[in-house]
Amino acid sequence: MIQSPFPRHLLGCFLGLALSAQAPSLIHAGRLLDVRTGQVLTDQGLLVKEGRIAASGPWSQVSAGAPKGTTVLDLSDQYVLPGLIEAHTHVLLQGNRFSQDYADQILKESVPYRTLRAAAAAKAALAWGFTTLRDLGSEGAGYADMDLKRAIAAGVVPGPRLFVAGKAFSATGTYPLQNYAWELDLPSGVRVVDGVEAIRVAVRDEVRHGADWVKVYVDRSITLGTDGRLRSLTNYRPEELKAFVDEAHRLGKRTSAHVKGWDGIDAALTAGFDTLEHADGFTDDLFDRAVKQGTFWCPTIYAGIWVAEGRGPLGRKATEILAAAFRKGLAKGVKIALGSDAGAFPWTENPAIELALMVERGMTPLQAIQAATVVAADLLGTKELGHLEPGAHADLIALSNDPLKDITALQRLRTVLKGGVVVRWEPTPTLAAELPSR
Ligand SMILES: [Zn+2]
Repeated sequence: MIQSPFPRHLLGCFLGLALSAQAPSLIHAGRLLDVRTGQVLTDQGLLVKEGRIAASGPWSQVSAGAPKGTTVLDLSDQYVLPGLIEAHTHVLLQGNRFSQDYADQILKESVPYRTLRAAAAAKAALAWGFTTLRDLGSEGAGYADMDLKRAIAAGVVPGPRLFVAGKAFSATGTYPLQNYAWELDLPSGVRVVDGVEAIRVAVRDEVRHGADWVKVYVDRSITLGTDGRLRSLTNYRPEELKAFVDEAHRLGKRTSAHVKGWDGIDAALTAGFDTLEHADGFTDDLFDRAVKQGTFWCPTIYAGIWVAEGRGPLGRKATEILAAAFRKGLAKGVKIALGSDAGAFPWTENPAIELALMVERGMTPLQAIQAATVVAADLLGTKELGHLEPGAHADLIALSNDPLKDITALQRLRTVLKGGVVVRWEPTPTLAAELPSR
């Protein structure tokens, strides 16, 4: 009865271009994780039509109701769950532990070259099971993120669904490249904008170019305060921050705030940003406000650890402060989404390590999986991703071992589907190993 719709000789490479997602197909899932409840259902069927889940339930029922001749994908020996959503990445960055690493990418790599590397990063991300990314700023590569999104959507190159920010914003004198000879006219990693009216115009312009998100660097220059809190300098006046949020919301877009210290988190919450990135300096009073406002948090634990060496004496201390804050935030019920800041560390490393770090810091494996599925989908404002109920995009991953017992199993996937199309099928060579070196 089992007939694979996917020619054996093609399996293991990316088939997005070769296969049509239009014909209905049936997935036989040995174990299906309901990510909302944590229930593992056995012997389940998923009917896929035009890239979406059309029906789900016990295998006997779903297969009996499927049209005659429907092809079957046999995952009866695997754990199946929704495709993962990474809510904080930079596909156009390839690791910046030291400030020179960042400058080298901006100054020595052309935007076309960086875009080719971003395409390789997107391919790797998809093979690791990240079927959706929220990419938070092109870091000096203009709107190349939007070109990549377009190329992926058109099937030109393989990659996850992208939600993009285009150029992130920061104020004059607050973001690299800085401290070069004054007579040089150097590029910036952000769009520099100051003043309420200019901010409103700039937000409109980003949205005109295709920004799904408005990303703002809200603070910088962290120090350890005498009260033990991580303090920072804010980059904008309160009315300027409010202008970013108001204008983006007026245009139907959401807002993301880069914040590290207490002062930045306080300012971003006051302005009403939808998501906080990093936020190492979170404290109980700020958690209470975030919970009340429904603000999401992407803690970017792994990036903090990876770059610590290059961030001076406070680098390592900040990772300890963040670890303690993570436990508090979890207990307070802040909405935590998976966001590793991949790109701050190189795309030769699987961002799924962030899930294991979240579990080490107190989450249950189910909570970590929810952070990468239903919570992240909620952050994105979509009901079509992060679950496998009828109507959802048929984005799913499958693996041999139970991820509720061992979260690191999510770093060893066998199968990945995006929009009902198989994009990974093990055993194959590890795709990450195919990333070209610089
Ligand atoms: Zn980032």
